[in-house]
Amino acid sequence: KEEKSLNFIEHIIEDDLKNGYTPSDLRFRFPPEPNGYLHVGHASSICLNFGLGLRYKAPVNLRFDDTNPAKEEQEFVDAIKMDVEWLGFEWDRECYASDYFQQLYDWAELLINKGLAYVDGQSSEEMAAQKGTPTQAGTNSPFRNTTVEENLDLFRRMKAGEFDEGSYVLRAKIDMASPNMLMRDPVIYRILKKSHHRTGNDWCIYPMYDWTHGESDYLEQISHSLCTLEFLPHRELYDWFLNQLVSSDKLRPKQREFARRNLSHTVVSKRKLARLVEDGVVTGWDDPRMPTISGMRRRGYPPEAIRNFADTIGIAKRENVVDVSLLEFHVRDHLNKVADRYMAVLDPLKVVITNYPEGETEWLEAENNPEDTDAGSRKLPLSREIFIEKADFREEANRKFFRLKLGGEVRLKNGYIIKAESCEKDAEGNITQVNCTYDPLSKSGSGTPESLRKVKGTLHWVSTDHAVKAEVRIYDRLFSHENPDGDKEVDFMDYVNPDSLETVTGYCEPALLDLEIGKQVQFQRMGYFVLDTDSKKDQLVFNKTVGLRDTWAK
Ligand code: ATP
Ligand code: MG
Ligand code: MG
Repeated sequence: KEEKSLNFIEHIIEDDLKNGYTPSDLRFRFPPEPNGYLHVGHASSICLNFGLGLRYKAPVNLRFDDTNPAKEEQEFVDAIKMDVEWLGFEWDRECYASDYFQQLYDWAELLINKGLAYVDGQSSEEMAAQKGTPTQAGTNSPFRNTTVEENLDLFRRMKAGEFDEGSYVLRAKIDMASPNMLMRDPVIYRILKKSHHRTGNDWCIYPMYDWTHGESDYLEQISHSLCTLEFLPHRELYDWFLNQLVSSDKLRPKQREFARRNLSHTVVSKRKLARLVEDGVVTGWDDPRMPTISGMRRRGYPPEAIRNFADTIGIAKRENVVDVSLLEFHVRDHLNKVADRYMAVLDPLKVVITNYPEGETEWLEAENNPEDTDAGSRKLPLSREIFIEKADFREEANRKFFRLKLGGEVRLKNGYIIKAESCEKDAEGNITQVNCTYDPLSKSGSGTPESLRKVKGTLHWVSTDHAVKAEVRIYDRLFSHENPDGDKEVDFMDYVNPDSLETVTGYCEPALLDLEIGKQVQFQRMGYFVLDTDSKKDQLVFNKTVGLRDTWAK
């Protein structure tokens, strides 16, 4: 593989390797909170962390940041594992912040014993009022000078469940005048009388993110803890906590930040995606319109395409919006290489080949994938009546119309050259049928002079008698606005595109009956499609994955 220039995180690692780190010190983690399904932004973070693991032959942990039982569920844990695996990555250890609850508690007592933490019994409003502003120092809490003994007693009683939610918190005693607001005696434990999906009712106090993340990194001996930019101000706190706890013979993790990835025409925030699900805008987290990994999978996006996309955009120091068409480019690029070609007509018009013998079926040979010589071929039935796309026929058209017109010729893909002789219409003047003749000597691949004759257009088609009906779901962007999240004055839900799903009945060649669920195919001239999980043996359902950047359709 071609050596790309290093990104800035790799530069940091290279510098560390020059300054005392050994390759075996390197260890990374991907730390999702199991409060929703992973999205395309997480895919970037997964590719970054696991990509570093591959580059440096270093282990990468999958760590569930499960410290908030109010929002976290086993369902999300399972979905996240499946998504990371599906993207093609293997973690070294499966870790849970909740496995460290006892250690984190013990460290909290250590902090109290050092006089560096105290239990505060004020309301959250009172504490907020004492925080001050970035330019003005806060005021000390009246609980700030409680004795170690009193604090230990209160903290143990918090843990024992003696107090109600919201009545007490444990705070680190740092600096109420720090220019970094996060350093102004942050809360590190709160009372939450909620059952946890892994620890059940063992705990009724839960550690805050900041008190958990760096310590988890330390316990797992993560060398580089990579997170998104909004955590930059947390870095001081991350280091302050570790300063109180680490022993000098152990590796000390570093937090480094990169920019969050945004994708155009969608939102990437679990909370916002959850609203789309809850409000019924989509059918679920895996709706093919969702930018979730499960949605993209169901839509037919191959994992290779998502990885290539993440590689191409790389990581940045500043937030920006990447156009979704770049992701679609990678989807198309990969599917072009791997997807077998089939024919399906999505808006049918009947064509009768008048000189074709009645009642006869001919099984033509059709190449599965011109990009892949190993893909083989299949049999394709032709009979006297076929469907073509309505848009592929006009009574009259100018010279630029390379499809079928009266008196004109086209080739049927994998079949014969036909000529349109006449058409029939209903009372409103809609064309209901086209009558054609075919040249029996012009069969594709037969080598006859007639078969080599050049005609401008090639059309896809299906034999009406053999066609298999399918429900075909065609998607448009979920949001009509390029950056639905960009305007703080407008709720992103106002930008939902009301026409993001169109369902049509397609007519497919019968070979598609044997397709596996989740398998992508190209419907020639129509785009890439995938057999959806809603499919049944006798009722095929396809999702349109992405259109073709087609030149030969026009
Ligand atoms: P969300 O706001 O969607 O819930 P999050 O950051 O709270 O995102 P986590 O589950 O905590 O979600 O994220 C796990 C990892 O993925 C974190 O390291 C986080 O920084 C990273 N991540 C999340 N969203 C993005 C994004 N849009 N681009 C890049 N990395 C992201
Ligand atoms: Mg988070
Ligand atoms: Mg979150």
